[in-house]
Amino acid sequence: MKLDSKAIRYLTSEDFRVLAGVEAGSRNHEVVPTPLIVQLSGLRGGSGVHRAISNLAKINLIAKVKNAKYDGYRLTYGGLDYLALNAHQKSQAVYSVGNQVGVGKESDIIVVAHSSGEQRILKIHRLGRISFRTVKTNRDYLRHRSSASWMYMSRLAAMKEFAFMKALRENGFSVPEPIAQNRHTIVMSLIDAFPLRQISKVPNPQGLYSELMDIILELARFGLIHGDFNEFNLLIKEEVDENAKEKYTPETKLDDVADEDIRLVPVLIDFPQMVSIDHVNAEMYFDRDVNCVKRYFQRKFHFVSDVPGPTFAQARKKFLKNPGKRLDVEVEASGFSRKMARELEKYMQEVGVDGDNGSREDGEEDEESSEEEEEDDEESGSESGEPNNDKQPEQDDEDVGESSRRFED
Ligand code: ADP
Ligand code: MG
Repeated sequence: MKLDSKAIRYLTSEDFRVLAGVEAGSRNHEVVPTPLIVQLSGLRGGSGVHRAISNLAKINLIAKVKNAKYDGYRLTYGGLDYLALNAHQKSQAVYSVGNQVGVGKESDIIVVAHSSGEQRILKIHRLGRISFRTVKTNRDYLRHRSSASWMYMSRLAAMKEFAFMKALRENGFSVPEPIAQNRHTIVMSLIDAFPLRQISKVPNPQGLYSELMDIILELARFGLIHGDFNEFNLLIKEEVDENAKEKYTPETKLDDVADEDIRLVPVLIDFPQMVSIDHVNAEMYFDRDVNCVKRYFQRKFHFVSDVPGPTFAQARKKFLKNPGKRLDVEVEASGFSRKMARELEKYMQEVGVDGDNGSREDGEEDEESSEEEEEDDEESGSESGEPNNDKQPEQDDEDVGESSRRFED
């Protein structure tokens, strides 16, 4: 599904309170009974709340589900998107929404803008989306999972990605600047660059190759393995080489810079599958990252390095001899706990998330069509639960509030 933000500016503060109420109710109910929505929205019952409910259902932010025992609603991915967008708007991380630039297997990538006009990237995690559509063997099993679980897992993926991006950035790695995280989304700086995948020629493949291997080794020195280090997750920025800077003014356009004065700067993205160097399968992930670069350089640039490796043993040795800060440990301490990491990893394995490597074949440049409806939308309220022990949601004033008229199409 794509983010369609058109309706957000027409939503009132009441609509958002009701939406947040359905979200809060979803923690304990697969189908949130209408009276509970009224209660959780913190609004006085009456026609206002019911108008809001039917309004939200009309634009598919919540979906009506007839249960064996009662009627109610569940939050849709669209509803979750709006709650997250509303929060980003309140915290001023996002002012307006622009074009979708990517539909990944597990995410949507959208250009947004800050009030200053600065462009940013909103990444919406949609864990399990593709698997629901294509992995038939998993389908029956997953159909019966509660939708709350993929929403929760998508949130875990966003939390993990944000935590790692922050730790990496603070320790000098070339990654986007993490700006905000809410629910299943993150806001980060926009990198004005193409993925390596789209670059047909590099002046010095050997130089770029060793730089990429150095990044893999440097990550390991900080206790980390990317786990999906490939041509889609490396954005290649062009900059004027330090040594050639005096030949140009800061206003010089890159097009006017001589080829030999341009330096390619890799920027690493996409961190939900990062693992610690102590992970049981660390060596496998490490080798896979290394081989991914090797294979790609051979195929695309016909470059084969005469230096073998690097091997996991070498990386480990470097790590032990001259360790960087343990970023795997730091991230754990930052709120993305080991338990969360385990839950997310297990889920990603179950639904067959395998990064960008998984399904793309050589020469397949097109993004997958996202026309198909998700299977999970079919799921009806087969599970039930009586309204019980629900507390008022912690009222998060940032999240519910006035309408978001500032959002644009
Ligand atoms: P996925 O997990 O779906 O693979 P990614 O984080 O790898 O998502 O992003 C998918 C694509 O979106 C990238 O290959 C890149 O083209 C683009 N993209 C992602 N983040 C940024 C960013 N910060 N700046 C520019 N482009 C980005
Ligand atoms: Mg990716």
